[in-house]
Amino acid sequence: TKIIAFLNGKGGVGKTTAAVNVATAIARKGYSVAVVDTDPQQSISNWYEESKCQFDLTEAASEKEVYQVRKALKSYDYVIIDGAAAISAISAAAVMVSDLVLIPVTPSPLDFAACSAILAVLEARQDLQPVVARFFITRKVQKARMLSVLKASIADTGVPALRTGMAQRQSYVRVMLDGSTVFDTDDGAAKGEIEVLTNEILELLV
Ligand code: ADP
Ligand code: MG
Repeated sequence: TKIIAFLNGKGGVGKTTAAVNVATAIARKGYSVAVVDTDPQQSISNWYEESKCQFDLTEAASEKEVYQVRKALKSYDYVIIDGAAAISAISAAAVMVSDLVLIPVTPSPLDFAACSAILAVLEARQDLQPVVARFFITRKVQKARMLSVLKASIADTGVPALRTGMAQRQSYVRVMLDGSTVFDTDDGAAKGEIEVLTNEILELLV
């Protein structure tokens, strides 16, 4: 089982949107996938419809439950942890159990400062047992200046960024309202972007 966590204490950066679309892309390749919802505020269970969905959904409401994920979900090929909107003991546990930590960040400079909390947790783990971590840019808009500022901020942290990001697209908003994913739409650009992002993520885990 490979465990991938989408973590950033900032809400609204696209953790859940990325988690459910990437989970679906992995499932479409024929792997078994479970998503672990750790955000009681904005629960994926509001979105999830089992009959429609290509992955299983479970919740982890405490640090202890997150630590048990590897054992409890060992029958799955991939487990995706959707992080909460605060860096808590739950997020620290998610860093400890994961093989790959992905930090979604938006081009908004005010959002970037909020990721320092998760970077501190990652740094603490590097001394024990290093984990692979990557930023990836979400809600990308065609503003070159904002993107170059963001890329410079990312470079300063020493944590690399994925080549692929997610653009700001209306279809991501729409699918989160009705239990679907971009694979249920005819938005080829969004589907292509999620495919490429997913391939890049899976390559980091081989
Ligand atoms: P988080 O889980 O980090 O709090 P969400 O995935 O719930 O963030 O996204 C917050 C809001 O932003 C939602 O309304 C979602 O539809 C929207 N959103 C997220 N990513 C994108 C994107 N790439 N393009 C457009 N809207 C997005
Ligand atoms: Mg969320």
